[in-house]
Amino acid sequence: MLLQDIPGREDVKAYLHKIVAEDRVPHAILLSGGEGYGKLQIALGFSALLQCQDRQPTGACGVCGSCSKTLQLIHPDLHLAFPVVKKDKLKREDTTAKDFMAEFRSFVVEHPYGDLNDWLTHLNASDKQANINKTECSKILKNLGLKTYEGRYKIQIIWYADYLEKEGNRLLKLIEEPSDDTIIIMITNNSTRVLNTLRSRCQIISIPPTEDAAMLEFIAESYSLSEEDRQELAFLSSGNLRKAQLLGQRQELNYSEELLNWLRLAYKVNAQQMVAFTNDMAGRGKQEIVNFLEYGLHYFREYLLYLNTGEPDKLRLTSTEKKVAMEMTKIIDHSKTEQIRDLFELSIKQIKRNVALKALLMTRTLQINSILR
Ligand SMILES: [Zn+2]
Repeated sequence: MLLQDIPGREDVKAYLHKIVAEDRVPHAILLSGGEGYGKLQIALGFSALLQCQDRQPTGACGVCGSCSKTLQLIHPDLHLAFPVVKKDKLKREDTTAKDFMAEFRSFVVEHPYGDLNDWLTHLNASDKQANINKTECSKILKNLGLKTYEGRYKIQIIWYADYLEKEGNRLLKLIEEPSDDTIIIMITNNSTRVLNTLRSRCQIISIPPTEDAAMLEFIAESYSLSEEDRQELAFLSSGNLRKAQLLGQRQELNYSEELLNWLRLAYKVNAQQMVAFTNDMAGRGKQEIVNFLEYGLHYFREYLLYLNTGEPDKLRLTSTEKKVAMEMTKIIDHSKTEQIRDLFELSIKQIKRNVALKALLMTRTLQINSILR
């Protein structure tokens, strides 16, 4: 994706354009920011800008050979490293990112804002431990030691640089004494987990979450949701483009209604309705239940804020959700909300550890009943 096409964060994009225009690009950059903030796309857009043969006032042209090859991840001067698992027929210690390039290209197209879990799921390896190994570091040194093939720069992107572990020390010399045409862009969700020695030699650029207004625009362009649902999704995704994509594919969100229904059901505990609810919810699968519970956490956070301040205006909730919140104050106070929220948090953890869904939902409904009563 070209930098100018990435939603929001105009300050960061303007800064990156500026350092390229003024020829002040540091040799080692660490892009740091939360999951789903589009750091890999920013790194790729920035690489296209650096290599573009026909830069425009708006940024990279997007159509020259360099732009096109960079965006397809086939530019010979663009090198990528990322966590991998063992590949068939290869030894684990010999497997590097190069062995997974075809898979990575299709991954980036399918999940432009995907995270490491999405990547491992794409490889059908979500139960495996991925890393960036010693052989990868040797390859990085070798690649960057070569002359450029056709670009102005040799660019090395390291996605999830915190997975370098201590092997990353092999890259120190490269970062300390880089050749003029070498640029290393490391990416991490958590800069404190990147080796100190590496981090201290990089210019750290913090990538903030996508702003609500930009997120709303992105959602409106990408999905056909009602205005109310677009607003709900923008608040719920909190600047995380991955999450917005995950939830945006639904026809309608309906989460607030479902949450209220569940609480009503838990209050009454009608056996027949409970079985129907549990079957319906469990039938939607793990991910969908986690999405729903995460919505619940978002909702309770705002609801607690409302209980504390009594001001509905500042809440990141839609007008329907605010009405629900006002109704709820009659039955759910501060302490009950906190207890239910803790149950939701626990449930997410347990679902990720693969507990039986129906039994879990049934137990939670009864627990919520005893909290409400
Ligand atoms: Zn171009």
